[in-house]
Amino acid sequence: MLEHDLYRLFGFRSFKAGQKEIIQTLLDQNDVFAMLPTGRGKSLCYQLPALLTEGLTIVISPLLSLMEDQVQQLKRQGIKQVASLNSFSTWDERRELLDQLHMYKILYTSPEMLQSKELLNRLIPIRIAYLVVDEAHCVSYWGHDFRADYLRIKNVKELLSNPPCLAITATASAFVREDVMTQLALTKPVSFIESVNRSNISLFVEEVSIAKQKVERLCEVLEKAKVPGLIYVQTRAHAESLFLQLRERIPMLKSSYYHGGMPSEERMLIQQQFIEGQLDVVIATSAFGMGLNKSDIRFVVHLHYPLDMASYVQEIGRAGRDNEQSIALVLISPEDYAYAQFFVQRNERSEEEWIAVMNELSKQAVDEQTIVKRLEELQIEQGRTFLYLMELWGIKWNTLREEAKIKNLATKLYRYFKDRQE
Ligand code: ADP
Ligand code: MG
Repeated sequence: MLEHDLYRLFGFRSFKAGQKEIIQTLLDQNDVFAMLPTGRGKSLCYQLPALLTEGLTIVISPLLSLMEDQVQQLKRQGIKQVASLNSFSTWDERRELLDQLHMYKILYTSPEMLQSKELLNRLIPIRIAYLVVDEAHCVSYWGHDFRADYLRIKNVKELLSNPPCLAITATASAFVREDVMTQLALTKPVSFIESVNRSNISLFVEEVSIAKQKVERLCEVLEKAKVPGLIYVQTRAHAESLFLQLRERIPMLKSSYYHGGMPSEERMLIQQQFIEGQLDVVIATSAFGMGLNKSDIRFVVHLHYPLDMASYVQEIGRAGRDNEQSIALVLISPEDYAYAQFFVQRNERSEEEWIAVMNELSKQAVDEQTIVKRLEELQIEQGRTFLYLMELWGIKWNTLREEAKIKNLATKLYRYFKDRQE
């Protein structure tokens, strides 16, 4: 009985809704597409079948911190035959792991690493139980965290003789779901789709009459609210300035800030401190939180209009994973409306505008970081997507000196972003 295995291996007495059906379908060797709300226990949906089936299960996960987290958690639960292979592993670690690969049950790895010949050559001869794509919305251009490397999973799947595949995510529109199934070339996938509604998260929207009052009101909320919590802001500069303001106004509150412009060690440290309860509040841009394994977040405040539904659902879904009452608050002022409008308009660049942007960038671009930074200054918030697209389209930045090439890229970008808007 599956319940028996669940208890024996994980110590849980019962399945959460959806888990058992997904697990059974995988055990029956079908491809599965599953959408379950954040915090529901998606990991278990592949961990249990992995442990019950002969061979190695490969789990593709977009974030390093996420992989490490899962491996540590499994080890704590006494499940030792798990490992992660990523760009941070040392050469010695890699070699040792690759030599022992057949001894493992679950291997977490990144889509990039999965491309490496070194790993593929070791995977091909051994029996692969399942191929799992976590955060599967990353496979689709139209998903909110698109990653070009996810598109190559399909080829690897074929090289590995098409083991049963699980694509699992918390947020994907009907269109994205279809796209994911196509891009991964799932075979007659069985779908499990559950709404993202989370009854223990209460949603609020509050508008203050001028921007200045926002901090005022935020402080009132923070003084009453249960911690820990997350505050989302739109820019890196805002994250830093709000951090300073809060520190002055509520000295008792242990807070920190987090954004994509900080060194990765610093980011990891803050995430760790937050998980371990040393911080009450993290003020962050959308760079923070994917795969964050923290169940007791009591509130998520947005100090701006959410710009798209999928990201918003994902961000507030980080609250209340322990099923305790939690709050999601959007706190805005009239200025934000103008700002949001500005963003929307800025996305509707004409082809000519794109050419101008490309021209300017090609003159000053030296490395990816500079480009992303510059794109952000130009209010092109899809800076990362942009880089993935370049890679996907096989465009090398340093070849962008010719006018025709620049124009060609601008046209492509124009079409791409236009498609996404509609
Ligand atoms: P998701 O990926 O859906 O956001 P996770 O896989 O990170 O969620 O799981 C969230 C939490 O739920 C984890 O702490 C996990 O141990 C726990 N969990 C998973 N399945 C069960 C279960 N059947 N009973 C109790 N807790 C569970
Ligand atoms: Mg997860």
